[in-house]
Amino acid sequence: MASTPFNPTGEYQPESTIGLPVLYRWPPRPLAALKYLLFDMLFPWGYLIIALAFLSWYYLTPSLEAMREFEAGWIAAIWLRNAALLMLVAGGLHWWLYVRRGQGNRYKFHDKWLATENRQFLCGNQVWDNMFWSLVSGVSICTAYEAITFWLYANGYRSVPAISEHPVYFLACIIGVFFWGTIHFYCIHRLSHWPPLYRISHELHHRNLNTGPWTGISMHPIEHLLYFSVFILVWFVPVHPVVIVLLSLYMSLGPAPSHSGFNFVEIGGKRFFTGDWFHQLHHQYFNFNFGNTTSPLDQLFGSWHDGSRESLQAQKERKRRQRRATA
Ligand SMILES: [Zn+2]
Ligand SMILES: [Zn+2]
Repeated sequence: MASTPFNPTGEYQPESTIGLPVLYRWPPRPLAALKYLLFDMLFPWGYLIIALAFLSWYYLTPSLEAMREFEAGWIAAIWLRNAALLMLVAGGLHWWLYVRRGQGNRYKFHDKWLATENRQFLCGNQVWDNMFWSLVSGVSICTAYEAITFWLYANGYRSVPAISEHPVYFLACIIGVFFWGTIHFYCIHRLSHWPPLYRISHELHHRNLNTGPWTGISMHPIEHLLYFSVFILVWFVPVHPVVIVLLSLYMSLGPAPSHSGFNFVEIGGKRFFTGDWFHQLHHQYFNFNFGNTTSPLDQLFGSWHDGSRESLQAQKERKRRQRRATA
């Protein structure tokens, strides 16, 4: 395998800096933009999540008729489906990268493995802690929003646009999930850094300086309430149920690869992009990269960090000066 670039502390650091996606560059390059949408943005995790959304709606979700009344049975079925899929994606990545250590520390951002004796985490164990918050709070609050959404559709408060009658609208909704999810995330994440909210809620996610797949939706319940409020848009804009499930899975499963702690995962001799260097920088330095590159609001509001060595050095200096000033 090709050698990987390491910074002086022994951690992996991508060689190229993070650029603005071609979609947002001038002059427009339609073919390159299409390639970005179909490959860079969606391959492989987006396609996996879209496939799981179809599978889930047609085989693993109660029918709309069954969801007219709030009942424990169908809500529990959705909870179980969401929990099982998170176990599959986050658990699968965790098993390969951290239990089996299938690729050693190749492409690993951090030089340490996940904490097993750190009192900041429940039982001192980062993975158990992350699993607890993800499954007990994350999956439950996601399921609650999803259940309310399906109840609205089941009772006719919103119509269901048939795929056969509105195929273009359906495709636009599928792609739209990836943009809406990242725009909404930027907004609630920026809000979560407001000091009072940070202290009572978001701080829990940021205990994970070194992240793993289970860190993705390891958040405080208050942050889960904000994070999964992404569903509220489809309470007003009618979409096909596959899109509702996609929204659920994109928000709950998507952060697992992006927090995996590795820039690439190697499976069967192939290398797949996993890590989100952009968000990884947020976990290390806190004050920038609140969103994602797909919807580059950080660029618009001046909090975009491209990961270049010079700007990282400047950040380290700034932190050192802050520490000296408060010492
Ligand atoms: Zn994060
Ligand atoms: Zn944050």
